[in-house]
Amino acid sequence: MNSTFSECLDCHTLNKINIEKLIHKTPLCGHCGKELKLKGLVSEVGTDNFKIILSKAQGPVVVDFWASWCGPCRSYAPEYEKASLQNKHAIFLKINTETEQEISSQFGIRGIPCTILFMNGKEIKRQSGAMSADQVRSFLGN
Ligand SMILES: [Zn+2]
Repeated sequence: MNSTFSECLDCHTLNKINIEKLIHKTPLCGHCGKELKLKGLVSEVGTDNFKIILSKAQGPVVVDFWASWCGPCRSYAPEYEKASLQNKHAIFLKINTETEQEISSQFGIRGIPCTILFMNGKEIKRQSGAMSADQVRSFLGN
């Protein structure tokens, strides 16, 4: 797994990114040319692009359902980012439950942060509450 996906915050185009190239330079959106703001290898995505990634991904996809007002979500964020750099075989995504309410209720998200692991587009397992980077690694089954 040498690539990941990132949604452009400006035009919402879904970009496929080569992970090796990330080390050398900031990736730019293929559509509008703006910088793609990845944190670690975590991409914030909207519902449409989340569904596209789920249908295209060959390996595991992990999603952190979060909200900006949620304290544990904010303390979880740097650990989740660290985990994304340590587990490059997986695609790390974040979905904001405030702006993406429909998909969040579709997945029955109640407590946040809620981390869900998908394989071949299907939910494998989920974990409520913040985790350390090591806990995320074991959650992924490494
Ligand atoms: Zn763009």
